[in-house]
Amino acid sequence: MLKQHQEPYIQEIKNPDLRDVRLFIKREDVIHPLVSGNKWQKLKYNLEEAKGRGYKTLLTFGGAYSNHIYATAAAAHEAGFQSIGIIRGEELRDKTLNSTLQFAVDQGMRLEFVDRQAYRQKTDPEFLNRIEQKFGSFYLIPEGGTNKLALKGAAEIVNKEVKKFDYICCAVGTGGTIAGIISAMQGKGQILGFAVLKGSFLQDEVQKLLKSYGTDQYTNWQIIDDYHFGGYAKTTPHLLQFIDLFQKAHHIPLEPIYTGKMLYGVFNFVKKQKFPRGSRILTIHTGGLRH
Ligand SMILES: *Cc1c(COP(=O)(O)O)cnc(C)c1O
Repeated sequence: MLKQHQEPYIQEIKNPDLRDVRLFIKREDVIHPLVSGNKWQKLKYNLEEAKGRGYKTLLTFGGAYSNHIYATAAAAHEAGFQSIGIIRGEELRDKTLNSTLQFAVDQGMRLEFVDRQAYRQKTDPEFLNRIEQKFGSFYLIPEGGTNKLALKGAAEIVNKEVKKFDYICCAVGTGGTIAGIISAMQGKGQILGFAVLKGSFLQDEVQKLLKSYGTDQYTNWQIIDDYHFGGYAKTTPHLLQFIDLFQKAHHIPLEPIYTGKMLYGVFNFVKKQKFPRGSRILTIHTGGLRH
């Protein structure tokens, strides 16, 4: 249902800082110009499910800068669904829309702004009933797009080639993507998730997701908490400089919220010699760039 514009591919990153290891990147970001990277994989089976069950409308949640809102609006538009975005922050209703929200509206998404308290209760049946009365029936995609079908899609990031690497590294927001990858690796390699949010809850969160997917027997994974740079969407000049240098050296675009932090973390791990000599490391470019 969602078109794949280009097949993701693996390329090597050659850099003098990578003395004893070999580093590669899987370019999931090329899969679609608007529904990029892991969001494409996470939405794919959800759209099929919604269609199969006869839904005409998708509904999801997010903050004002959410990649997930952006991707869902574009995916809904392409696949012929109506879409509704429940947006955190009542005060945004009367402001000029930022580029993410303007894009969503241009794709036909209806936005419903709710205050932070209502937003916290967004999955309560009472809240959802009210929304249904207002907008009609909808297929619900959770915040960040993470559910079982998202894991099934994310698992497809792993193919035969991916399974051969010693390390798989990816950025972690809600944990859906890494959980899909862990499941699909079936105990092979080591999977390192670089948390982009502050707090150590993601370890439990990923474990829960694996359990819901029936694949919580694997222990070859770890969440790294040291590279969130102060929390979600926080940056430092140092991080921005790393991204700038990386882009100039390798002609691979990065953004500072997810992939920039993950690659910074991987290069820092190399510097600290945390990977054994000769390791073959695959990073996942989960996309997130705006076109
Ligand atoms: C949303 C997003 C992630 C986080 O994925 P989760 O499945 O929520 O962990 C990682 N990278 C990019 C570029 C994203 O947009």
